Amino acid sequence: MAKVEKITEEDISEYTEILELPSGFIPYDFNSIYIRPFTVGEILALQDKQLSLDFLISLTSQAVKDIDLYNLSLSDFKVLVLNIGYLSVKDSGWTVKSTCTNTDCLSEISKHVTVFDLDFEDLNIPSLPLTVDVPDLKPYKFDVFRVKHQIILEKLTKDLIYDRISNNYYNKSNKLIYIQSLLVLSIITNIDDVDATYNKLYSLDLTKDQVNILDKIQTKLVHYIKPVEIKCEHCNTITEKNIILEIESLFPYDESEDSIEKLFNYG
Ligand SMILES: [Zn+2]
Repeated sequence: MAKVEKITEEDISEYTEILELPSGFIPYDFNSIYIRPFTVGEILALQDKQLSLDFLISLTSQAVKDIDLYNLSLSDFKVLVLNIGYLSVKDSGWTVKSTCTNTDCLSEISKHVTVFDLDFEDLNIPSLPLTVDVPDLKPYKFDVFRVKHQIILEKLTKDLIYDRISNNYYNKSNKLIYIQSLLVLSIITNIDDVDATYNKLYSLDLTKDQVNILDKIQTKLVHYIKPVEIKCEHCNTITEKNIILEIESLFPYDESEDSIEKLFNYG
């Protein structure tokens, strides 16, 4: 893994204070974060197509004051990176493409979005951790899904095949290894042995009503981006498009070419 040299920044006035994050700062003992723009070197490093989460964290930590990024909720971390990106390159953002859902139209539609167009599911809980009054679930304290949990998830599943339809992980011989929702729940508990927790949750003897509890826990603790609405230029139909913020696409700026061209003088 590449290492990043620490850039020392003495003057806090060069930092911008971030007061809004998807989690509402509920999981933390602080309520704002100071960020500075990425340097040119950092921006170039971020364009690596093979960008790993560890390297992104290492780069981002240089531009953030006194915060353990591994402890941020994954959604907060992504929004923080997008905010730093916006400070660094004003045209940052990307074009979301889809097809008009009006079956008489079916035009190609698109919309340019920046971090400020993203709307996250709120973390709708007053405090953490979450415990559940069901005997078999009582020992578990559930935490919000944080960056450190994503690292564990990636390590456990790196040699597995993820099926986006069933949300299951399989090995190369097509054997079901993890159900994603159960794996995520196992990772965010206070118990370190993820596989043991997974097996316990998998073997729980719950009533049908209680099975929904597991879903509900996940909904409360893993917060997602709401779909972006794209209006069709031809028929005005609004189509919803889900956005998945993959690590590799956190720092795109697909429309910067034109604005850079404006800065050049010839002859
Ligand atoms: Zn249309």
